[in-house]
Amino acid sequence: MREVKETMRILVVEDEKALANIVKKGLEEEGYAVDVAYNGEDGLFMAENESSDLIILDIMLPIVDGMTILKKVRKAGVGTPVLMLTARDAITDKVSGLDSGADDYLTKPFHFEELLARIRVLLRRDSEAKTSIIRIADLHVDMASHEVKRGEKQILLSAREYALLELLAVNRNKVLSRTYISEHIYDDEFDLDSNVIDVFVNRIRNKIDRGYETKLIHTVRGAGYVLKG
Ligand code: CA
Repeated sequence: MREVKETMRILVVEDEKALANIVKKGLEEEGYAVDVAYNGEDGLFMAENESSDLIILDIMLPIVDGMTILKKVRKAGVGTPVLMLTARDAITDKVSGLDSGADDYLTKPFHFEELLARIRVLLRRDSEAKTSIIRIADLHVDMASHEVKRGEKQILLSAREYALLELLAVNRNKVLSRTYISEHIYDDEFDLDSNVIDVFVNRIRNKIDRGYETKLIHTVRGAGYVLKG
């Protein structure tokens, strides 16, 4: 089983299918969940409707170009970090892209390692406001070391269990639907029914809550799950 290093979800909007697929495959190998749109119309729709943590946006796109997508999503209040892909020497694209709310750009052709480095910076920048340790009652989730403790007791979780717990912890006090959870932890191809989510939640619950008077993981009937102290 592939280790889940991040629960981050990246949207790739790129009409060169070969490039889009290489990027998708490479990012998935790094543990990201990846959605791909091959034209601007799909890209705009997905940028506005899917909850991505980062958008990699090609500028030259059929139907709706990248700059238009960028302006529209920012106007719609979507604050997701955007990394633009531009053609070599397209200086005006870079400038107007940054002016329109892009966070960074990368010139084609690029090395995959360079793309990864930029992504890490953007995702870190986005999450740095939060400390790496989340505390909920006496639960302690360290997002840097992936160490989980309840009180002084260390709790051992599998990679997927940890990913799910971290998602709940980051969204503490917020009810997460099974769909939201599956979208943030699994790929589209990982066709999972909500029973699988329930199984994982119950496993975490057994490790975190069993034997404690204060329960932290709560089921909200018909809505999903929430972690709160
Ligand atoms: Ca293109």
